[in-house]
Amino acid sequence: MNVDATHTIALDKAHHVHPQSNLRQHAENGPTMITHGKGVYVYDDQGNEIMDGFSGLGCMSLGYHNERLANAAVRQMNTLPFAPTFYNRSHPRVAELCGRLTKLAPGDMTRALIQCSGSEANDTAIKLLWYTNTAKGQPERRKVIGRIRGYHGNTVATASLSGQPHMHAKFGLPLPEFKHTELPNYYRFHIDGETEEEFSARMAKSFEDLILAEGPDTIAAFFAEPAISGGGALMPPKGYWEEMQAVIRKYNITFLVDEVVTGFGRTGNRWGSETWNLKPDMVTCAKALSAAFFPVSALMFRDDFYADMMKNSDEMGTFGHGYTYAGHPVGAAVSLEALDIYDEIDLVGHVRKVSKGFLEKCYAMQDHPLVAEVRGVGLFCGFELMKDVKTREPFDPSWKVGELVQNFAHDRGLYLRAIGDRMSFMPPLIINDDEIEIATERFKGALDDAWAVVR
Ligand code: PLP
Repeated sequence: MNVDATHTIALDKAHHVHPQSNLRQHAENGPTMITHGKGVYVYDDQGNEIMDGFSGLGCMSLGYHNERLANAAVRQMNTLPFAPTFYNRSHPRVAELCGRLTKLAPGDMTRALIQCSGSEANDTAIKLLWYTNTAKGQPERRKVIGRIRGYHGNTVATASLSGQPHMHAKFGLPLPEFKHTELPNYYRFHIDGETEEEFSARMAKSFEDLILAEGPDTIAAFFAEPAISGGGALMPPKGYWEEMQAVIRKYNITFLVDEVVTGFGRTGNRWGSETWNLKPDMVTCAKALSAAFFPVSALMFRDDFYADMMKNSDEMGTFGHGYTYAGHPVGAAVSLEALDIYDEIDLVGHVRKVSKGFLEKCYAMQDHPLVAEVRGVGLFCGFELMKDVKTREPFDPSWKVGELVQNFAHDRGLYLRAIGDRMSFMPPLIINDDEIEIATERFKGALDDAWAVVR
């Protein structure tokens, strides 16, 4: 390690507060210091090359090097590095981005609000629901339903909406308006003999029971990821979305589809909504929107929501919401360039092509004694690790088997993400067949290493 690396690690240990990290571990071991990246690989300060099987945080759609995106940022920085979008001011790039995104979006979206993160997009959606319901004369419609283990961000409201226990405990969350319906993990939670379709119907019934218990007139919206990502790469069981959408329609509840992870090709279609035939009233996206070269997110919705916003704006004289960096010109320019690249290289077509081999290799790991279930679509795959695959007996959580696999994979040069004992594998969307071969071999090796410890 060179002197500079030692210095920056010491600085990091002393001063950097790491999100979603084990703080004791950081105090003892310091960070893994990543210095640069290229293609699907990142490099640490020890000279190790690590293939990124988790796309940063599910965001590095085009990998770690792209001159066009870098040049788009530089061009925009040299032209107009910043312009507020407050006070009816705008700039060409953000107007173009809103026009383009609303055309691409699933559903009948006509309006887009551009911000910096998925959390901001979802948080703003919650505020807008409260705002527009006031305009409708229904201010009591404030409750928002998410799912256990669902993930929508880290603001006070979006952490409340997310169903992640470690983001609630000790923070005094969730806030009272936020409710959670069941996690549709068929493998873990089906009753013996229950088909996937029967399980899905039971999930929808439980959702309906929650709506009835809370009072349908108090529900503002249901938020969901097409496939659960942060809760452990869980694909919806057969019939799930048909059943859930029937309940949403029955009670006239606004359906926000969170495409922050699934947007722009991850599931082999531009949107997860296409993959599972979802009919959103509102959509959020981020991550691959800018290929993660700049923090950008979008919230999109139909004109009827905008009409209600207009009503309140007329009454108050202004729409009282906004972040300084909303509609940032550099973010807009980078996103437009990313969307051009996606079209030019037919990224969705590429994902469909390589995902065949990717999924075959992933499903082949189902034979491993540690693996109870593999489920995937496109370049998005989850693995359920279990002590006893037949009886569905989980490992003692204190064994941290998922973390063990994650660490062995790192030792073998592959980033994967463990969420408890669920592994999430979602490489950059530009990955090729040879790289998929390398990644899956390393993954199998890590499973073998972990099996040797826990067997
Ligand atoms: N929604 C989903 C589905 C996510 O996976 C994430 C982040 O991983 C978010 C929202 C929050 O996005 P951000 O981290 O950009 O705030």
